Amino acid sequence: MQNINIPPEKHIKVLDGQGWIGLIDKMGTEATCVNAARVSFGKMKNEMDEKDVILLKYLIENKHTSPLEHLVFTFSIHCPLFVRGQWHRHRTWSYNEISRRYTEFDITFYTPARLRQQAQVNRQASVENSNFNDSELINTIDKHNKKSLKLYEYLLDSGICREQARGVLSQNMMVTFWGTVDLNNLLHFLELRDSEHAQREIREYAIAIKKLIAPYIPNIANYYGWKTD
Ligand SMILES: Cc1cc2nc3c(=O)[nH]c(=O)nc-3n(C[C@H](O)[C@H](O)[C@H](O)COP(=O)(O)OP(=O)(O)OC[C@H]3O[C@@H](n4cnc5c(N)ncnc54)[C@H](O)[C@@H]3O)c2cc1C
Repeated sequence: MQNINIPPEKHIKVLDGQGWIGLIDKMGTEATCVNAARVSFGKMKNEMDEKDVILLKYLIENKHTSPLEHLVFTFSIHCPLFVRGQWHRHRTWSYNEISRRYTEFDITFYTPARLRQQAQVNRQASVENSNFNDSELINTIDKHNKKSLKLYEYLLDSGICREQARGVLSQNMMVTFWGTVDLNNLLHFLELRDSEHAQREIREYAIAIKKLIAPYIPNIANYYGWKTD
């Protein structure tokens, strides 16, 4: 049986190489969106011209979003459980994930390379402090991750079912899922998650998505001024 994931050389690595995201599949092009917008005229084009670029911009600026829904992307995402929790709040994506009810192998955990401190004013924010000595705390997190795996294995060895035993695995456990989304809802996701208000970890994935899709939507990437190098 083939592995469900795409080869590592096609991933964009995030979270210090511990997480990744790759583009599995895509349906449509920018021309598809333009064709969808002009479907009432019964005319199709395969290549974009200047007028089409202007139309694309018009669609975005005037929130005429349904033509953008005809362009669809599927990603494979490897991230910590807490990032997955935030991601799956986006209901307009379709998701499938490797289940811990079926597999107990390949369990790995995210250990942050740097720790941020709690922001005093905004409870949802964190601050970097280069003077903050975090090495011992990082070590403690790593030990906690490993301990949670040991307890999980102990429970399995004691005959406990996977679906209950998995409850002891830490929020840093890495999960892999597929996510499929149309361009309109993906742009919405990127606006919310490549933002200074979003948690740093999910933001790294949003930035990686821009890199993955920019070659397929060059005019839209240019319109938003994405920096993808
Ligand atoms: C910085 C940040 C902080 C957050 N903090 C919290 C928090 O503290 N607590 C918390 O619970 N969540 C929090 N969230 C999650 C947030 O509330 C949204 O659930 C999440 O961002 C998904 O956004 P969405 O609903 O617009 O996206 P999607 O679910 O992808 O939906 C896209 C759009 O489709 C429409 N839509 C989808 N479903 C419905 C529906 N059922 N009814 C009507 N319209 C619908 C809406 O227009 C919606 O904007 C936070 C998100 C961010 C970005």
